[in-house]
Amino acid sequence: MKPATKFIHAGAHPDPSTGAIMTPIFQTSTYVQEAPGVNKGFEYARSQNPTRKALEEALAIIENGKFGLAFSSGVAATDAVIKLLSPGDEVICANDMYGGTYRLFTKVFERFGIVFKYVDTTNTANVQSAVTDKTKLVWIETPTNPLMNITDIAAVAAIVKGRNILLAVDNTFASPYLQNPLDLGADIVMHSVTKYLGGHSDVIQGCLVMNDADLREKLYFIQKSCGAVPGPMDCFLVLRGIKTLGVRMKAHCENGKIIAHWLRNHPKVAKVYWPGFEDHTGYAVAKKQMRDFGGMISFELKNDSVEEAKRVLSSTHLFSLAESLGGVESLINHPASMTHASIPREERIKNGLSDSLIRLSVGIEDAEDLIEDLNKAIG
Ligand SMILES: *Cc1c(COP(=O)(O)O)cnc(C)c1O
Repeated sequence: MKPATKFIHAGAHPDPSTGAIMTPIFQTSTYVQEAPGVNKGFEYARSQNPTRKALEEALAIIENGKFGLAFSSGVAATDAVIKLLSPGDEVICANDMYGGTYRLFTKVFERFGIVFKYVDTTNTANVQSAVTDKTKLVWIETPTNPLMNITDIAAVAAIVKGRNILLAVDNTFASPYLQNPLDLGADIVMHSVTKYLGGHSDVIQGCLVMNDADLREKLYFIQKSCGAVPGPMDCFLVLRGIKTLGVRMKAHCENGKIIAHWLRNHPKVAKVYWPGFEDHTGYAVAKKQMRDFGGMISFELKNDSVEEAKRVLSSTHLFSLAESLGGVESLINHPASMTHASIPREERIKNGLSDSLIRLSVGIEDAEDLIEDLNKAIG
């Protein structure tokens, strides 16, 4: 089945008691038992909820996986994966990833004795040489936020294969429309559902998708024991959001392409980061593992002062100045002071994230209007 069809039909079953085509919002905390221990598979809503169950089924299907688990946020989903580990275990992760992931690793889990090694995963030889007999997990993000670096998922999967090391991929930027890491050998796919899957900037949620039943049991145990579950209303919103993922992503990609090229030709723009450019360092890998190149773009101005970047950031009208991405409306963001402020400046600069970098989440408005808005702001 093709993705667009899957997005609409995944996990959709008419409600057995009424025939309702949409899964109802089961706003309940508990379920009445017929006799002690006799129930319909639902006991208490932290452990099971029918709206969440329908969503988890849909998440698994759209990522070509067997099992889905939904969490109350993207970072809660990441948190659950790290809780598979024990003190002394080592994680190899990308040196350019979502700031909140970096914060969770360095500020929370390092205190519990988990060791994180940050490497440039765009060169997979770095992953190979960082592996020790204590390595239990490799965590990658591709394309990365905000520099759009690309890591070869299949090549990393080949490195960890047969070594009892899990490969987890944060697939938030690509969405299942563009890329399916499980098909490329990953063990776990993570999403900030808040972004493209929700798609309407109205919900915070995360998820994990996997194929291995034992791994699913371990992660389900963590989900119910630690309790970071999403509410049924949020699950309903995401089930609804996923239905239009195909048309939305198609429009994000079309607009992204137009705007990336337009920016690149703008006399005041120095550099544009977008994986669809043939001279982008990750282009060949992106072309191999992604179906298109998405609507996330970062750029630097020729006048690279923070003041000039801030002036542009404050001058757009259709592009709203906000954190987050992946909604139908366009957003503009200053990673250095917003999404990536939790990364020390020295680290940021070393990884190529300059103070003047501007990130766009190109929405699905008419491209002409978006260009006019950017043109006025850049001046
Ligand atoms: C937003 C984001 C997260 C965190 O997800 P939340 O839903 O905000 O907790 C993780 N990874 C990436 C790439 C993100 O963009």
